[in-house]
Formats: sequence, structure tokens, C-alpha cells
Amino acid sequence: MGQRKAPKDGDRKVGRRALLIGGTVAAAGSAVLARDELARLWWRVPGVEKPRKEGEVDFAGARWVAASDANWRRADRPDDYGVDMVIIHVTQGSFDSAVKVFQDPEHGAAAHYIVRKDGHITQMIRELDVAYHAGNRDYNERSVGIEHEGFVDRPQDLTDEMYEASARLTARICARYDIPVDREHIIGHVEVPGTDHTDPGKHWDWDRYMKLVRAARTAQA
Ligand SMILES: [Zn+2]
Repeated sequence: MGQRKAPKDGDRKVGRRALLIGGTVAAAGSAVLARDELARLWWRVPGVEKPRKEGEVDFAGARWVAASDANWRRADRPDDYGVDMVIIHVTQGSFDSAVKVFQDPEHGAAAHYIVRKDGHITQMIRELDVAYHAGNRDYNERSVGIEHEGFVDRPQDLTDEMYEASARLTARICARYDIPVDREHIIGHVEVPGTDHTDPGKHWDWDRYMKLVRAARTAQA
């Protein structure tokens, strides 16, 4: 959970996009671009965003439930903001209550994913977009946020199914954005600068989780 941030980054966004377009033009002028490079660059044309489909998810098997658009900001990651971090949360409530508050425009916060105790994963915000989950604008822009059903003072809430499903999800995110699988890049909400949140709490087993993420990353490679 985190407080709501006003979208005031218009200048920065235009600047970075202009820079990218300049680079593309220069490359095209000096050499013939390989076919795959062209495929990778086409969406950097001004005004063209990557295509989106209603209800589409970024993680196979996740179920889509849209968060209120007051709880995230439309973006075009990883091209306007690089993604180099996964932030782990615990909801301090049930799965259903987390889904409900993320749908509430008054809540002002939401994460990309929620993992249920039985390992079910719901996606509520596209990874393309900036979710308000870290309580820190820079960290929101560069991260994917994953909530886990439960309470920080109830170790029994953190089930085997939850660890395993979450680890597969994090491994896939790390693969997609080439994020190193280490504790510099996979962090808890508590580790975000300026936060007053304590999740995922002392019962979250980081050694176990990182081992599972590394195993899933190797299996997927
Ligand atoms: Zn949190």
C-alpha cells in the first residue's frame, strides 16, 4: 500500500521519448537496420503505443480484474520507464478485501498482482503501467508490485502454494526485463526509501523465496 501520487511527469516523459526517437533516426540514417531491430523499434514512432487488448494479462494463468484507474497511471514501460525491480507486499487483509480496495478509486493505491493463499494469481494493473504501491514515485515507476494475501504477524498465512506461485511470477518478470535475481532488485515494501510500511514482515522467508525464484528462473530459461 502507498499514498497517491499526482501525475506530473509530462516533461520528463517527452524528453526521454524525444531522445529515443532521435537515436532511432540517427541509426536508420547511418546503417540499414536489421529486421528484428525494426520490429523492436516500430512503436517508438511518436504517438504509437504498444497495442493493448482488454483483459489481457502479462503472466500466463493470471486472472484479470481491473483496478480503479485512480490507483495507477498509464505508461508505456519499459520504454518510458525502465523496470528493474520487483516489490513484495503482504496485504494485511484477505484476498477479497485487497481486490475490493484496489477497485476503489478512493483507496489511492494498488499493486499489479495479488497472490492468494492457494497460489491463485490475479492481475489488476498491466506491467506497462505505473501502479501506486510503493509509496515512492521513483520506485513505483521502476517496479512491478506483488501483494500476498495475509497478515505480517501470521506466519501461517504464507503458504507453500503462495511462495511457489509468487516465485514463478517474479522469475518471469525478471526474465522479461532482464532483472538480476538478487535482493538488490527483489525487495520488500519495508525497504523502499521513505515508506512507513513494514510488509512483507519478519515472517517472510527471503532465503526460501529467493531460492524458489532462482529455481523458477533456471527452469524457465
Ligand atoms: Zn506494501
